[in-house]
Amino acid sequence: MPNVKDIISLMQTPPSKEGTELITKAYEFAQKAHKDHKRYSEEPYFTHLVETAKTLAEFGLGPKTISAGLLHDTIEDTKTTGETIEKEFGAEILFLVQGTTKLGKLKYRGVERHTESLRKLFVATSQDIRVLIIKLADRLDNMRTLAHVPKEKQKRIASETLEIYVPLAYRLGVRKLHRELEDLAFMYTYPDEYKKIKEVLKQKGGEILKRLEKLQKSVKKTFAKEKFTAIQTECRIKGLFSLYKKLQRKDMDIEKIYDVAALRIIVPTASDCYQALGIIHGVWRPLPGRIKDYIAFPRPNGYQSLHTTIFTGDGSIFEIQIRTQQMHREAEYGIASHFLYKDGSMKRLFNQNIEWLLQLLPNSKVQEDKSASFKKKGKKPKVPKWVTQLVEEQQSTSLEPQEFIKSLKADFFEHRIFVFTPKGDVVDLPIESSPIDFAYAIHSDIGDHISGTKVNGKLVSLETKLKNGDIVQIDIKEASHPTQKWFNLAKTTLAKRHIKSALQKTAEV
Ligand code: MN
Repeated sequence: MPNVKDIISLMQTPPSKEGTELITKAYEFAQKAHKDHKRYSEEPYFTHLVETAKTLAEFGLGPKTISAGLLHDTIEDTKTTGETIEKEFGAEILFLVQGTTKLGKLKYRGVERHTESLRKLFVATSQDIRVLIIKLADRLDNMRTLAHVPKEKQKRIASETLEIYVPLAYRLGVRKLHRELEDLAFMYTYPDEYKKIKEVLKQKGGEILKRLEKLQKSVKKTFAKEKFTAIQTECRIKGLFSLYKKLQRKDMDIEKIYDVAALRIIVPTASDCYQALGIIHGVWRPLPGRIKDYIAFPRPNGYQSLHTTIFTGDGSIFEIQIRTQQMHREAEYGIASHFLYKDGSMKRLFNQNIEWLLQLLPNSKVQEDKSASFKKKGKKPKVPKWVTQLVEEQQSTSLEPQEFIKSLKADFFEHRIFVFTPKGDVVDLPIESSPIDFAYAIHSDIGDHISGTKVNGKLVSLETKLKNGDIVQIDIKEASHPTQKWFNLAKTTLAKRHIKSALQKTAEV
């Protein structure tokens, strides 16, 4: 049986005496509340709560979030009431637990219960991002143990993970979680493709890794010669699902993918990163066009690193990623890692990260509030008033979930999709968006000159309706310009606005 120390020892900052007491209390409470409750695997249900709490501890979250992780299923699955949680653990933990609790089975059924629960999760998340992190830690354990769940349920849970939780983890920059969730979901949603990739890796992976380790040795030697000793190196293999997506674009030929395995170099400071890049390029010739400065230009999810792809000289080509320890931690743990830092710049990143989430919430007010509040540096992102009111109402009057939900005007998941650029950046769009909307979402210069488009490596027409998870590539030509047809195909106001102004300009000439 697990022990409360298993959780505490994983914490990134050792907790205070009160912190330890809180976690211990939550641990004992959850153990008791779920004592008659078993998982599909016949294991005590309590192991699920310990695993969730362990993930949260590893991600650097504090005692309150860890305690909420232990308690997250008490209201949903046991006789415990919200009042009890509040009395024993306080309003903050109650909020976190309620945020992850599904809506009552009696009021809602099937798909409705499911989407309404997701909406509720989002509203709570907009107030406190920790709600979503708990949900993701919860989902991770559910995916790890999915083999025990009845077959007919497996596929549904796995595709939901792939469609909803994987993009969310990506957007929060929690790469560690994103990668594992994605590969687990891949295994259940596309079993044949999964087997195929496994086979490809089995044949070629070992040899690729051997060549990479050889490079790792020469890199270490080179740096030692330069008296640059404060480096750490590691080899990393691409996740299976992201390898699968890439193979689809490269005629299923693994030799055409340069980053199946990459060498990571971790150095103390950002300027060391550039110096390290200089040392690398002094010895190995870089592939033109593949040098990426994500330190000066972080990805939208906050990811920072220098990337370069080099010829090793003996026929191999490898990607090298250079970053500081802090960038590394952020790349692995994303938004969760920011709870560790109290520094102002971290707060800024945090706000950037949550901004997209607020934009997704229904109501145009969000956009207005956003411009006003986010520009004030370091200020906690303002939650739209109507959301705050709804949540407060529900807490103070224990309003029926149905009433609560009724007040929400539109929703998130039924109306949004996540699509990817060929580089893996995520763009979120309304459902049924066209490649035109995608192009304008990236940049108006791209939108204004679309000449063709590929979805998942295949040429498609501009009429194509994009789907969740599509990888979209836009080809541009200077001579290509917006037409009335584009206007009719566009779904987003952003694209429509740009096309309209382009059409008006042409009309004037
Ligand atoms: Mn759970």
